[in-house]
Amino acid sequence: MDFEYSDSQREIRAAVAALCARFGNEYWRACDEKNAYPDEFVKTLSEAGWLSALIPQEYGGAGLGMLEASIILEEINRSGGNAVACHAQMYTMASILKHGSADQKQRYLPRIASGELRLQSFGITEPDAGSETPRIKTFARRQGDQYVVNGQKIFTSRYQHSDMLLLLTRTTPFDQVKKKTDGMSLFLVNLKESGDAIKAVPIATMVNHGTNQLFIDNLVLPREALIGEEGKGFSYVLSSLNAERILVGSESIGDGRWFVEYSVKYSNERRVFNRPIGMNQGVQFPIAKAHVAVQAADLMRLKAAALFDAGLPCGAEANMTKYMASEAAWEAGEAAMNALGGYGFAKEYHVERKWREARLYRTAPISNNLILSFVGEHLLGMPRSY
Ligand SMILES: Cc1cc2nc3c(=O)[nH]c(=O)nc-3n(C[C@H](O)[C@H](O)[C@H](O)COP(=O)(O)OP(=O)(O)OC[C@H]3O[C@@H](n4cnc5c(N)ncnc54)[C@H](O)[C@@H]3O)c2cc1C
Repeated sequence: MDFEYSDSQREIRAAVAALCARFGNEYWRACDEKNAYPDEFVKTLSEAGWLSALIPQEYGGAGLGMLEASIILEEINRSGGNAVACHAQMYTMASILKHGSADQKQRYLPRIASGELRLQSFGITEPDAGSETPRIKTFARRQGDQYVVNGQKIFTSRYQHSDMLLLLTRTTPFDQVKKKTDGMSLFLVNLKESGDAIKAVPIATMVNHGTNQLFIDNLVLPREALIGEEGKGFSYVLSSLNAERILVGSESIGDGRWFVEYSVKYSNERRVFNRPIGMNQGVQFPIAKAHVAVQAADLMRLKAAALFDAGLPCGAEANMTKYMASEAAWEAGEAAMNALGGYGFAKEYHVERKWREARLYRTAPISNNLILSFVGEHLLGMPRSY
């Protein structure tokens, strides 16, 4: 068992950290305050090739593994940034690489790798289905060699900053399938060709996320937009979801590290009652406890990423990574808010922004309750809780 990062993994970490250092806390604060997409950062990251980490070299990508991709996103969040603006391209990639046709890969991957096309949007969640994905109602009806899609999605993020949308629909109604996860299909939608069939209505949220409600009205898709076989979309999405959980967990590890490093520095410097506040166990121990939790989440992330890269089942580890990391980041955020006292609420100290951003990952992309029910049922053999 080897817990050491390789030289090239260390180099990736250092190079991404150096790039991120050009976009400091003030850059991210300004984007947050203006609710603006961090265009310059995403452009710089794409040009440096980091966003195409998971695209094989034959298609112009870096051909790196999940662990390397997770280090890239971790470093963005550790620098004070927010990888949410561009992380989807990495995790949506798994569905296309594993299940896309040779034609889809040839047509899109080189252009995604070069930064010409952005695949940043992933539409699964629907208002009436919520966490119960098989209840989605957006329907793709086959007509000759085309599909016509109608329905609604909610919380579809980065739609306005993406050229492509990975869209999950039903192709057989819920009440006509034997297994409830059957009868769903996954499409790679070229938004430049979708005309005005998709209406996106932005949802104002407490984070700078660019998320939307989508109203899909007679969207016509060519048969070639279908990924893999009709009706098997849910299983294809699972390949992306494991990647998503490892990558989002890594962002939370980065958040946790940012909070711990920031609050250690602050509480060693801030003097009250004629001593650094970090001398008080009430300040020091929550930070130390959060550090322990972040380190533990990191170990689970290493295992999940190693299994993913070896092509082995990693659903349990990917879910546990996302759970442990998001809870650890939240714990670290609370410790930082506590350490900063009133200054934690002042925007110029950046902690309140990171605290809002870190909170999201306890709810999305899957709520931590659902992960606990997965662990109870599938890992521990307890009764299904719903
Ligand atoms: C900022 C933001 C961005 C997002 N971006 C995207 C995106 O790009 N694409 C996309 O498809 N989705 C996106 N989402 C949606 C996100 O994945 C969902 O919000 C999340 O999966 C929870 O679904 P829901 O909001 O419908 O909650 P619900 O399913 O309504 O659940 C509400 C609460 O009830 C709990 N609950 C429900 N059922 C159970 C149960 N059986 N056992 C225990 N607890 C239960 C949940 O844990 C949760 O706490 C985004 C969400 C947000 C807030």
